[in-house]
Amino acid sequence: MTGVAEVSVEPVPLHRLESLLTPERVERLETYVAAARELLEGRVVWNVNSTARGGGVAEMLRTLVAYAAGTGVDIRWLVVGGDPEFFAVTKRIHNRLHGVAGDAGRLDAAARATYDATLARQREEVVARVQPGDVVLLHDPQTAGLARALRERGALVVWRCHVGLDEHNEWTREAWGFLRELVEPAQACVFSREAFAPDWVDRRWLRVIPPSLDPFSPKNADLRAEEVEALVHREGLVVEGALLPTDGRVVLQVSRWDRLKDMGGVLAAFGEHIRELPADVHLVLAGPATDGIADDPGAAEVLADCRDLWQALPPRARDRSHLVCVPMDDLDDNARVVNALQRWSTVVVQKSLAEGFGLTVTEPMWKGTPVVASAVGGIRDQVEDGVSGVLLADPRDGAALVAALADLLADADRCREMGGAAHLRVRDHYLADRHLIQYAELFAQLAGEV
Ligand code: UDP
Repeated sequence: MTGVAEVSVEPVPLHRLESLLTPERVERLETYVAAARELLEGRVVWNVNSTARGGGVAEMLRTLVAYAAGTGVDIRWLVVGGDPEFFAVTKRIHNRLHGVAGDAGRLDAAARATYDATLARQREEVVARVQPGDVVLLHDPQTAGLARALRERGALVVWRCHVGLDEHNEWTREAWGFLRELVEPAQACVFSREAFAPDWVDRRWLRVIPPSLDPFSPKNADLRAEEVEALVHREGLVVEGALLPTDGRVVLQVSRWDRLKDMGGVLAAFGEHIRELPADVHLVLAGPATDGIADDPGAAEVLADCRDLWQALPPRARDRSHLVCVPMDDLDDNARVVNALQRWSTVVVQKSLAEGFGLTVTEPMWKGTPVVASAVGGIRDQVEDGVSGVLLADPRDGAALVAALADLLADADRCREMGGAAHLRVRDHYLADRHLIQYAELFAQLAGEV
């Protein structure tokens, strides 16, 4: 698909969220909302990214756009399209921002030409919709190339980067070298962690705004026990392995099929160290059906590699591990299945090798399911090791992962306590009120500059 599309999102009234907040938090939110409404009178807030489905950015936009619209702000969401060559380049940038090559290609003049050609076709269309004084939030590398034209149009332009690596290396430097001239025209840059920002980003206009989740979305809303059972045992979900167990305990990882999520590493660790886990424990690796996501090339290949790995497991590990693909054609339905899996599991794993933030950690934490996750990127901010989850110092250490799982699975009280602490952590730090307030502050500062 090449061409700009608008995603429509039903407004959601803020008082739905307020039902979970203390009176002080409600008051603070309402103060900011009133000021933002006044500031944004006559302006549109645009979000631009490259996919309406799949992955954390789309997940978060759905929530934030809905709540912001519910306050009466005119907020819209545009998706730019691209051909496979464009997404091959942007995936390369994405991988390199996470510190790995991803593929053998270069981020050279040819890559720049491919990138520019796709955005050039859509730039005019985006610019024509935006009026001077509007606010535009450009998300991730795929949209950075729109910043200059939008700034020239007279919009207030913010570039939000959802990915990054704590310590820069040759790959991150190459990616930032590619992005620098695209990003510099934006007035402000937003990162999920400060360490992700390259040193040329103007610190006065750098903001750290971590993501948030919506407790009422289909992904996170309460489900009755019967609904959970029906959703996880629905026919057709398992692509490799036996049907999901009806008794026994489950360790789950949910991720896009992306090498940096290391689904293969989880499977290998499980296969290798299965004797260290109680006999009733199963592993479930769940990701999206791979035909649905345009901006994630390589997903089918990663899934195929996981299937090969599964085939090669010793039988005792194969009997207790399951690869699941959740259909993407109905997003609410997809979300409900993921929700159910996260509630049904005893422990959730996120063995990422790098991670911008990791909503797949936040989501089970909200549900009170204990998590064992790599100490990388935004996961380190979310999980207080030993309190609201377990952090793995070395994301590649499969033996340490299984040892941490064995410890947790042996202690139901500790699981319960950790799950409880995890829920409170999300309530206190990762709900939309904090997120909306941070945006409102930034918009006021930007408007004050002009
Ligand atoms: N997700 C989903 N279905 C899947 C796999 C993932 O809905 O089959 C969602 C997941 O629940 C989370 C998001 O995709 O909301 C992934 O966000 P995260 O921040 O963890 O990582 P990203 O994919 O953005 O790198």
